[in-house]
Amino acid sequence: MSSREFDVIVVGAGPAGSMAALHAAKGGAKTALVEMDRLPRDKLCGGGVNAWVVKKLNIPSSVIERRIEYAQVVAGSRKLQPVPWPGFLAWRTVMRPSFDSYLTSLAVEAGAELMESTPVESVIFGAEKEVCGVKTKNKGVLRSKVVVGADGVSSTIARTSGFWKNWFNDDKRKWLERCAYCVEAHFELPDREIDKRVGNTIYLFYEKSLMGYHWIFPKKGILTVGTGCATTHRKKKPISYFNDFVKRNPIAIELLKGARLLGKVKGAYVPFSGTFTSSYGDGVLLAGDSAGMVGGVTGEGIYFAVRAGIAAGEFAAEAALNNDYSAEFLSYYERRWKNEIGKHLEAQARFLRETQNPLKAMGSYTTYTVEHQKELFPQ
Ligand SMILES: Cc1cc2nc3c(=O)[nH]c(=O)nc-3n(C[C@H](O)[C@H](O)[C@H](O)COP(=O)(O)OP(=O)(O)OC[C@H]3O[C@@H](n4cnc5c(N)ncnc54)[C@H](O)[C@@H]3O)c2cc1C
Repeated sequence: MSSREFDVIVVGAGPAGSMAALHAAKGGAKTALVEMDRLPRDKLCGGGVNAWVVKKLNIPSSVIERRIEYAQVVAGSRKLQPVPWPGFLAWRTVMRPSFDSYLTSLAVEAGAELMESTPVESVIFGAEKEVCGVKTKNKGVLRSKVVVGADGVSSTIARTSGFWKNWFNDDKRKWLERCAYCVEAHFELPDREIDKRVGNTIYLFYEKSLMGYHWIFPKKGILTVGTGCATTHRKKKPISYFNDFVKRNPIAIELLKGARLLGKVKGAYVPFSGTFTSSYGDGVLLAGDSAGMVGGVTGEGIYFAVRAGIAAGEFAAEAALNNDYSAEFLSYYERRWKNEIGKHLEAQARFLRETQNPLKAMGSYTTYTVEHQKELFPQ
């Protein structure tokens, strides 16, 4: 079986992985960024990205679809007062294929080697149970003493290196309890109609029977429409919530009138009930969805994936350069991301736990965001 050597292997070229590879390469490590898909690949996502990410990563205007100015909450079929979205908090909308490709290009420019169409099957360990690299489906073994698992919500790296045993006792139902299931589709509508009906506003819809919410996010000539619901609290299939919303909610009907479904309605899991820790072990770091880093109230994961990915890349490079792959050293990675984003992720999980009501939780988190804006979005 063929094998190649690296200082750092990052698995998954989403926001967490591209940022980890960028920062590992910048830190002087010979870095592989291993992605199972061919790029540009799509990822089911509303594509809402906050201002910190846009500024920090200098996201080019060609990648940005719209600059969001308002959030419109709809309770049942009643529109609440639209909330203006000031500059330091404002989201932009993006389409994931071009956004993720841009982030990956930053990693490649910094010297990381991108290996597309390369699914990783497992982490491999040596005689002393030390990490030796990963086994791929089609490119043999890739060797390194530190692996960053940035391979999304059903992470192969987390499963094959013992994290799922610690977190969920390897019981898929326990993993499901920590996830929401989302259904989403893009609808095509002339841009002038989007300007008239939706403008630069994201719509969030809440209904009593749904432990989650629906969304409509405007792009250029596209409205991205979705439904997310807790896997454990649902009374019908997620696709039924989605179909009922699109067909029966009077505001959704008005916004989507004449819009044409592009491609298929698809589904995906997203973590929503707090982070999975620990996110490090001997020779392994986890960043982004693989470690549950998604806000349970907002469903926002890109920002947290980017921040954790940056930290993971820096610590992985340092581990390689100092030849210290111990869990003790890598624990500083978790300290770092907990310090930067952990508190805010925990706040979202807490609001949801305490209220058991997504709309009330969103209200609490909006207040929290304004109060903690400087910590959340450092200049
Ligand atoms: C419907 C929906 C809507 C969302 N809307 C938003 C939103 O508007 N804003 C927001 O901030 N967040 C949103 N999120 C969450 C957001 O999409 C994720 O939090 C974010 O993509 C996490 O980034 P990541 O890099 O950790 O993982 P991902 O973006 O999932 O990237 C993981 C990568 O790993 C690759 N991979 C997986 N397994 C392997 C393997 N075995 N070998 C090699 N490669 C592998 C995958 O192909 C993928 O490219 C949404 C999620 C869903 C499901």
